[in-house]
Amino acid sequence: MALSTSIKTPNLTYEQPLGLFINGEFVKGVEGKTFETINPTDEKPIVSVHEGTEKDVDIAVKAARAAFEGSWYEKTPGERGRYLVKLADLFERDIEILAAIEALDNGKSITMAKGDVTNAAGCLRYYGGWADKIHGQTIDTNNQTLSYTRHEPIGVCGQIIPWNFPILMWSWKIGPAIAAGNTVILKSAEQTPLSALYAAQLTKEAGFPAGVINIISGFGRTAGAAISSHMDIDKVAFTGSTLIGRTILQAAAKSNLKKVTLELGGKSPNIVFDDADIDNAISWANFGIFYNHGQCCCAGSRLLVQEGIYDKFVARFRERAAKNQLGNPFDEGTFQGPQVSQLQFDRIMEYINHGKNEGATIAYGGERHGDKGYFIQPTLFTDVTSDMKIAREEIFGPVITVQKFKDEAEAIKIGNATEYGLAAGVHTKNVNTAIRVSNALKAGTVWINNYNLINYQAPFGGFKASGIGRELGSYALENYTQVKTVHYRLGDALF
Ligand code: ADP
Repeated sequence: MALSTSIKTPNLTYEQPLGLFINGEFVKGVEGKTFETINPTDEKPIVSVHEGTEKDVDIAVKAARAAFEGSWYEKTPGERGRYLVKLADLFERDIEILAAIEALDNGKSITMAKGDVTNAAGCLRYYGGWADKIHGQTIDTNNQTLSYTRHEPIGVCGQIIPWNFPILMWSWKIGPAIAAGNTVILKSAEQTPLSALYAAQLTKEAGFPAGVINIISGFGRTAGAAISSHMDIDKVAFTGSTLIGRTILQAAAKSNLKKVTLELGGKSPNIVFDDADIDNAISWANFGIFYNHGQCCCAGSRLLVQEGIYDKFVARFRERAAKNQLGNPFDEGTFQGPQVSQLQFDRIMEYINHGKNEGATIAYGGERHGDKGYFIQPTLFTDVTSDMKIAREEIFGPVITVQKFKDEAEAIKIGNATEYGLAAGVHTKNVNTAIRVSNALKAGTVWINNYNLINYQAPFGGFKASGIGRELGSYALENYTQVKTVHYRLGDALF
């Protein structure tokens, strides 16, 4: 099979790399395997890509190790930053192509996809700016000793990303790792391999030395497992399900105790008080769950509404959900495209059926949309209790449960009654309520009078079973550096 091919999307034609990107070149997998990626809008294969397995991961690790000890080590921090800034410029130059790939391969609307590419470029440029601002401290221990710390790169980093924000997750992972001086082997999700390969080609154009960034298309159980258990990978960063997060942590512990950061699932409460601005709260509740078709780890999937406005709020929310435009991701007006895969579609429909059987009421949606593509209607469940499966488990689709609460204490109690702790929302005009409740919620991010707004300058990550470590902002640099203390003795020997 060829190493690249021309692909025609509804709005453009471009050249798609198909190989694994190892040591600065696109190559076939050692085992000669390939796999198809499916267009979720029409359920047809788009193209096949070369598949990486354990042997390819091994070759990539050797290349990344050589670059880490050699060509990349020799670069100044300022030079590292310039590569990232150049890469950000290339993302912006090719925004139409990258966005079209995301719409084709993932099914997200082209408008949202452009937002992802813009944010990905912003994230890369932001970390480009950090590259020459990472430094340690001098520490006053005593007059005979110079003590200082260095924030050194960790080494060869494995990065495993999901399919819900393919190009954005690529940039969240690569940006801080590269800024801090590491080298990388990134595995894309098997459902959405295309944009990661296109971006790999851009790293070549940006002039990164061979082996600094390696991109593997492949499956979790093979290529992913090879990364998390590899003896010469110093750190693994993973974004995905809590189930696989546990597997990664175990593999790291059983192999070489590589450092681990995890960004996992959620079942985030979005709390609306009686005194909230209703129009605003409805908009954010809608965006909070239906943005990216509910395929966000931080989705506001549990809506908690205070009893005084409950009936009015539910009625208005149904009207709002009915206005969301479902359809072809390449239509500019589309808000919601298909779910990413047949498997996800089936999982979500199973949850919807479970909700019905558990006794919850479908206030809106609940069915497949159309007869082609993995489309699901925005779905609103009422008469939900906290013990129901649909209120406890992450559905990762356009499904929201609504529960009624009496007062602040009950809202906090229901809000925190989950194993997860990724995000939460609070809607109220009362500043004291907003701050008190956001302080009490056990979540890594709290949005007050908005939802799902993420900026690459501010950290993102989970409390409890939602993860370990923080991505984005200056905090992410801590995941990719290790502190070395140096004591230089000025005086004579003590003993
Ligand atoms: P989902 O169920 O939504 O696909 P996963 O957590 O299974 O989410 O997948 C997220 C990423 O983790 C993907 O890149 C996938 O290939 C990878 N992955 C899945 N299983 C494993 C595993 N056992 N080891 C390492 N990576 C894995």
